[in-house]
Amino acid sequence: MIASIDAVPETRGEIILSDERSRTALWTVLTQIDADLADQAWARGCPQCGGTLHRADYPRKVRGVREETRRHSFCCAREACRRRATPESVRFLGRRVYAGFIVVLLTALRHGWSMHRVRVAQEQFGVDRRTLDRWRHWWLAHFAASRAWRVARARLLTPVEEASLPWSLWEHFRSNTDEPMVGLMRFLSPWSTRAAAIN
Ligand SMILES: [Zn+2]
Repeated sequence: MIASIDAVPETRGEIILSDERSRTALWTVLTQIDADLADQAWARGCPQCGGTLHRADYPRKVRGVREETRRHSFCCAREACRRRATPESVRFLGRRVYAGFIVVLLTALRHGWSMHRVRVAQEQFGVDRRTLDRWRHWWLAHFAASRAWRVARARLLTPVEEASLPWSLWEHFRSNTDEPMVGLMRFLSPWSTRAAAIN
């Protein structure tokens, strides 16, 4: 085996980024989880009035995977309410067009990997420097400052260093769970809805 030019050995995250079959397999699992989350949201009924929810799924563009996707969504059946309810998702992170796990891994690798690897991965997914800077800013200035994070981090087994988010979070799930990407995206699902994303 040829030694890597980088000090860090190939990680699971890197395999996900570099291998399309891994991405598709991961996406299939995440899609199933999203279907379950949607079923649970439907069973709870309208968050506003408790009324029955009607399906109002919509097509959702996603970069980083080659699958056709639809975002699960509902609309209250009561004429006087009609509130739209979009359940949490493990596939998306706010309104970003890239799959959530791509946003996590590409931002994370700026901490853990060499500049060379960062550039290769960036080019592969067509993520320009400005976009990556925006994502990083979001993790540090918005995510780390959100009330949802302060609540959620208390559930983690060990403390996570905020200055190196989301790398520190990815490392945490990598050392503590068998399916780190799935576990991490479940953890991040509250940030998939728009209200939480801008918090
Ligand atoms: Zn309602």
